[in-house]
Amino acid sequence: MHRFEYRGRELTCEDVPLSAIAKKVGTPFYLYSIGTFLDHYLKLKEAFKAANPLICFSVKANSNLTVLKALVKHGAGLDIVSGGELFRAKKVGVDPQKVVFASVGKSEAEIEAAIRARILMFNVESVQELDVINAVACRLKKTQKVAIRLNPDVQPHTHHYITTGSRENKFGLSLETAYKLFMESYRYPFLRFAGVHIHIGSQITDARPFVKAIKRVLKFVDSVRFGGNPVEYFNIGGGLGIIYSKEKPQTAKEFAAAILPLFKDHDLKHGLRIILEPGRFISGNSGILVTRVLYEKSSDSKSFLIVDAGMNDLIRPAFYGAHHEILPVWKVRGKSRRHSVDVVGPICESGDFLAKDRTLPVVGVGDLLAVMSCGAYGFVMSSNYNSRLRIPEVVVKGKRFFTARRRESFRDLIRNEKIVSEVI
Ligand SMILES: *Cc1c(COP(=O)(O)O)cnc(C)c1O
Repeated sequence: MHRFEYRGRELTCEDVPLSAIAKKVGTPFYLYSIGTFLDHYLKLKEAFKAANPLICFSVKANSNLTVLKALVKHGAGLDIVSGGELFRAKKVGVDPQKVVFASVGKSEAEIEAAIRARILMFNVESVQELDVINAVACRLKKTQKVAIRLNPDVQPHTHHYITTGSRENKFGLSLETAYKLFMESYRYPFLRFAGVHIHIGSQITDARPFVKAIKRVLKFVDSVRFGGNPVEYFNIGGGLGIIYSKEKPQTAKEFAAAILPLFKDHDLKHGLRIILEPGRFISGNSGILVTRVLYEKSSDSKSFLIVDAGMNDLIRPAFYGAHHEILPVWKVRGKSRRHSVDVVGPICESGDFLAKDRTLPVVGVGDLLAVMSCGAYGFVMSSNYNSRLRIPEVVVKGKRFFTARRRESFRDLIRNEKIVSEVI
């Protein structure tokens, strides 16, 4: 469910017509329905209520401060992957004991900043990283909780760029290596081996790969507990799929119904706490990209709609071959003519497309289009390629809209640059 729907002929976000926003902020822009973000978060929270899990929104999916703050205010924790995301987490005032830090390549500076901030735990991805965290914690005279990221070697049947839990991926440690680490945890006096972590991939529409991975890791948890290591947290990661076009993903309820029974022999209230790290599930359908048609062009074999948003604004179609629905902001009246077009941006790359061979109603120059389901991995992956200004992020709540991040200026473009006269 999301709050982008036609009222009369016009597409609206919650109670705001899109054309009103376009008139105010210009195009292109990202548009977020705060109500939808909260709705998805609360659905997951409700579904897992019996287990009282810690739900850490994955900041890398959408790191807009207003979005983060809204989720945090409703009790969410945050899942971060860099010092920059830690900075954002602090800015929105999240309880640091609700922050978990994953990444295969945390630098010593990032580790130090996170320990100083008193985050709940690191999700550790290599043996050497453990040594570094231990050394930094020693220097700071702190004890730090860690979870070991396990690679459960399952196939989540999603795009290979977003598969992370099979043996060939760079993520996590094998069960054998992890077992050794738990047994030798005394070697790390400044660490507490408090949890296990998995994150098997993204846009997974079916609970089965999760079930398989969790079963494997629960056996692991039991074996290390038997060896005298109480594991307090089981972080099942993110990866829940959403509807981009015709997917039929599990609902939060169905997901919980498949997952919670696996823990029936574990005391979820006091013994083992579940952590979830949803990114796309909460944010994907909560945002759209609004763009304007600049030109139309046809040859014998192809028709193009050239729009003012490009791959630097939304890279998912070019990067993953991702499908995003495209809707006209003004519904075309009656039985409209439809035709097949490529929707392309202004950038000097043939990979610069938002849709290929897409059947759309005929729209004209100046019309607005909504690229749906852009709330996850949209703005956060945008760049200044072609010296294009990064576009605004607008938030809607009910009848009101606000710019949460303004459009960049030319000055922003060259802010950190100078002409080095010495080499000229
Ligand atoms: C990216 C990521 C997530 C979020 O993934 P989604 O598919 O957006 O839910 C969660 N945990 C980790 C460790 C990640 O890297």
